[in-house]
Amino acid sequence: MFSVDEAGRQLEELYATALELVFMQSVGLPYDQAKIVKTAVALNNLCEKILEQPTIPRLLRLSALNWLSRTIAYPYLLQFTQEYRNIAVPLLEVNGDSVNLLTWRNYRVQTENWAEQRMVFDFFVEHAPKLIPTTKQHFSSYQEIHSRYNETVLDTYLEHEQISYPDLVGFITKVGENARKPFLQAAEHYCQKIKGESFAYWDDFIFLAHRTLKPLNAHFKELDPLAQVIKIFKHLGFPMEEIKVDSENRSNKAILPSCFSIRLPGDTRIAYRPSSKVGDLDGLLHEFGHGIHGLSSDPDDPFWKREHVPMSVLETFSFLFEGLLKDELFLTKQLKLEPVIAQDIVERLRANNLYFRVFLAANSLMKLAFWKEGLSFDQASQRWQELTRRFYIEVPGDYWLLYPINVQFTLYNPSYLMAYVRSVQLRHLLVDEFGETWWEEPRAGTYIAELAATRAEFPIKEFPLDPDILLK
Ligand SMILES: [Zn+2]
Repeated sequence: MFSVDEAGRQLEELYATALELVFMQSVGLPYDQAKIVKTAVALNNLCEKILEQPTIPRLLRLSALNWLSRTIAYPYLLQFTQEYRNIAVPLLEVNGDSVNLLTWRNYRVQTENWAEQRMVFDFFVEHAPKLIPTTKQHFSSYQEIHSRYNETVLDTYLEHEQISYPDLVGFITKVGENARKPFLQAAEHYCQKIKGESFAYWDDFIFLAHRTLKPLNAHFKELDPLAQVIKIFKHLGFPMEEIKVDSENRSNKAILPSCFSIRLPGDTRIAYRPSSKVGDLDGLLHEFGHGIHGLSSDPDDPFWKREHVPMSVLETFSFLFEGLLKDELFLTKQLKLEPVIAQDIVERLRANNLYFRVFLAANSLMKLAFWKEGLSFDQASQRWQELTRRFYIEVPGDYWLLYPINVQFTLYNPSYLMAYVRSVQLRHLLVDEFGETWWEEPRAGTYIAELAATRAEFPIKEFPLDPDILLK
């Protein structure tokens, strides 16, 4: 038997090693493949040892269960990458590569051939069932690990998020229902504007987000997104020199910005690859939100309190800062834009945000039912199709298998919706307390840092989720 402190210390070391390897891989730097295997085996052994202890803090147990599941499921993630590459549209290329599930995003943002876009969408949906065997094995591995320790994927998720199943379903339903009508109006408006056609099922989230934001780059020609974002956080009093930024443009680097809190709080890294001004500004505000959240951890807290934070709390700080772009006052005052331009930006971002809500409402309810009712894959696709019809427009059911971020997590999207609503509540609180331009107020920064320092003990109950706040 070993002490709880010792377990935490060992877990922290392996966590840092694993995350550093993920970082190297993600930014396209050479990394040691053998070290990945060695670290995974060591993590596995340590987590099993922790889980066999009869009395350990509940958070440490959940953290160990999470890491054990992730290392066991890791080979399936590698398999997905291969399968995403193999599902390719014949005779179609983007940037010298085939149009496959990994390059679909690049293709979608480059082509303006709408009929071809539809054909590509239908092609991928038709071939989506090829992903079922790996998706099934991936989910089953989580299920098996949890049942080995008399836990379930769904219950540990709900416990960690401190919400009951009926409350969560009720909350998501309300968020989706509230967004339905305004979303359909906005989607129709922008689809007519962009392609002169009605909104249809193949106009997915990436299509609309990219096409609505693209014209905005013209207003940001002079802007340096990274310098602007750092300036805002610095002004709020965060020690920005402690965050390392990797902005190299390597060909094998991941496209979207991401944050790696390798040591909490000592080693935070943000990786990004400059692409479009608006996209970068939006992405960097979000990722630096994660960055300052990690940076605010109290080094004296046990590792599991710093590390095993509910996903909805992890995303709250990111959505808070990303939300600045939807604030007209921020756009005119901080970014010095004309009011009419600021208004246009807010409307376009609002359309995307409404899509985010209806899409995630459908996806979250399907995923929750998947675990609760033990749906088969056929039933899951059918359920997803019904839910998309209910919340926005009927989308062929197998599409849910194609959106990588959902497939790789047993449950994550409900947390996004909770985090989004909580971030709006937090913004209201900051406005009440520090004024409409709270981002200019260092005292607001101190408040945010103190709240961020609570990590796994974030006062969730002090922010009861109110979906109607989004109607205001
Ligand atoms: Zn995030």
